[in-house]
Amino acid sequence: MNNIVAIVGRPNVGKSTFFNRLIQRREAIVDSVSGVTRDRNYGKSEWNGKEFSVIDTGGYIKGSDDIFEGEIRKQVELAIDEADAIIFVVDVEDGITPMDEEVAKLLRKVTKPVLLAVNKVDNAMRQQDAIEFYNLGLGEYFTIAGMSGSGTGELLDKLVEVLPELPDAVEEENPLPRFCVVGRPNAGKSSFINALIGEDRFVVTDIAGTTRDAIDTKYNRFGFEFNLVDTAGIRRKAKVKEDLEFYSVMRSVRAIEHSDVCILVIDATRGFEGQDQNIFWLAEKNRKGIVILVNKWDLVEKDTMSTKRYEDAIRKEIEPFTDVPILFVSALTKQRLLKALETAVQVYENRKQRVATSKLNEIMLPIIEHMPPPAVKGKYIKIKFCMQLPTPAPQFVFFANLPQYIKDPYRRFVENKLRENFDFEGVPIDVYFRQK
Ligand code: GDP
Ligand code: GDP
Repeated sequence: MNNIVAIVGRPNVGKSTFFNRLIQRREAIVDSVSGVTRDRNYGKSEWNGKEFSVIDTGGYIKGSDDIFEGEIRKQVELAIDEADAIIFVVDVEDGITPMDEEVAKLLRKVTKPVLLAVNKVDNAMRQQDAIEFYNLGLGEYFTIAGMSGSGTGELLDKLVEVLPELPDAVEEENPLPRFCVVGRPNAGKSSFINALIGEDRFVVTDIAGTTRDAIDTKYNRFGFEFNLVDTAGIRRKAKVKEDLEFYSVMRSVRAIEHSDVCILVIDATRGFEGQDQNIFWLAEKNRKGIVILVNKWDLVEKDTMSTKRYEDAIRKEIEPFTDVPILFVSALTKQRLLKALETAVQVYENRKQRVATSKLNEIMLPIIEHMPPPAVKGKYIKIKFCMQLPTPAPQFVFFANLPQYIKDPYRRFVENKLRENFDFEGVPIDVYFRQK
């Protein structure tokens, strides 16, 4: 399980510059593969061999010039609730502002690690100016320049030192599927969970400090055994009904990272929107299985075409990863809930499957021979062998004489052929080409 680090602070102090620096290398790789840029406010970073997830909470309220203090406060409170550590960024050019003081006041009460980063310290002179930030009452601070990266090493050294040890996922001891139910506020997540497993299990117990860890609760319903990844977000969601992007993202991250399959609940009356897309992307990026439930289907006027049209519209939004089950359900009338559970179990199985090397080669090599990667500069590219790697989410490696010449469209072609020949519905898969 990864630690989650939240970057907070008022607009224009340099949060996203710093965030981009943290996730740089990895993001570049992801983007060149998918060619799609989605949520730019969540990513994974690594320092001294320790991996953690980073969220730039400010990214979600950007664009509003006259940002309300109340919004910053909510952003910080949410970060305090959901993150394992907080990096509070301030701007040495501006000095301490009233909003900084507000944020500091909230953070002083927090027992989680809080690191104060005084940004835009581009030169020695500004080192001197930074001293005033002691007055925020947060103790030692780190002077950084997000733009050049100077000072960030010391900050990150400290960060990974203070990050708490989290329990490792215990797949071995508990091999049941881990499902999480995600979606934006009011989509019907808790109604779905309640309908599925019974009301009594989701009594809200809001005991400070006990709610932040993801907990697997074992269920046995309709003959299926599974764990529901029950997070603070689900249990305490009653507190937050506001439909803000960063709420659904912050509250989904830990659950998603901790699960095998994400059940994304969307509200049929609202359609598939930006927030849904970003949560979908979080699951995809984490290489989790995905099932989309279009909930509140009881409220939608139906003619014979509407399911198909609705489904097509969603598939368009989730391109290029469209091989995902989409079900039309109602938590209220309990329509197709069993089917939803069945599908989630199937996606779990799909994600877990290991294709035997002999079978894989038997099927894929003739396809590749028939349609080889296009020759580059008169050089022929040959793929002679392939195998699935023993990873938690499916990864395939194809050995070639000149892997560097194989382009993304061909990779997608191979992925599609894999999907046609084996059942990977709902499962992101990786295809690599390597030197044999
Ligand atoms: P955010 O709103 O907090 O995410 O801030 P941004 O990352 O968008 O940065 C706001 C402005 O500060 C931009 O014009 C950045 O180029 C600038 N900035 C960010 N980091 C530094 C830095 O280390 N030094 C200087 N001089 N400017 C910076
Ligand atoms: P959450 O914030 O995602 O957990 O959403 P809730 O489960 O609290 O549901 C939000 C609202 O939608 C509540 O008023 C529910 O009664 C209603 N709701 C949930 N599922 C359905 C459904 O399938 N059909 C209808 N008509 N209403 C639903």
